[in-house]
Amino acid sequence: MIEIKSLKQTDIGKWVEYRGTGGEHELGRIKSWNDTYIFVVYHYDNNWMRFRQYTGASTRPEDLFYADKLCNHCKTPIAIRNAKGICDHLYYPENCEVCKNGKSKEGS
Ligand SMILES: [Zn+2]
Ligand SMILES: [Zn+2]
Repeated sequence: MIEIKSLKQTDIGKWVEYRGTGGEHELGRIKSWNDTYIFVVYHYDNNWMRFRQYTGASTRPEDLFYADKLCNHCKTPIAIRNAKGICDHLYYPENCEVCKNGKSKEGS
C-alpha cells in the first residue's frame, strides 16, 4: 500500500499500480489525494503528458503500489502496452515525454 501521509508534491505524476482483491491490476498516475483516498488517473490515450487534465479515480491506498520496472529512459512502466517488456518509447518516440521535451527539461 501507499501511505497517504508519506505523499509529497513530488509524488504527483508517479506511476502506481492498482491491485484489486480479485487479482485485477491497472497502471495509473497519482494526481492528488485527501485524507482517505488517492486519486489516480487510469485513463490511457497515449497522452500521459496531459494526465493532469483527466479526472482521478478515488482509490484506497491499500490497493495501490508504486510501479516497478520503470524504463531508465522515459521513467514509464515498460510493460504498459506490451508483454515483452520492451519500452514503448522505442516504438512511439512521439509519445515519449523525454524525447518530446528534450532531456534538459527535467523537473519542470
Ligand atoms: Zn522508455
Ligand atoms: Zn524517449
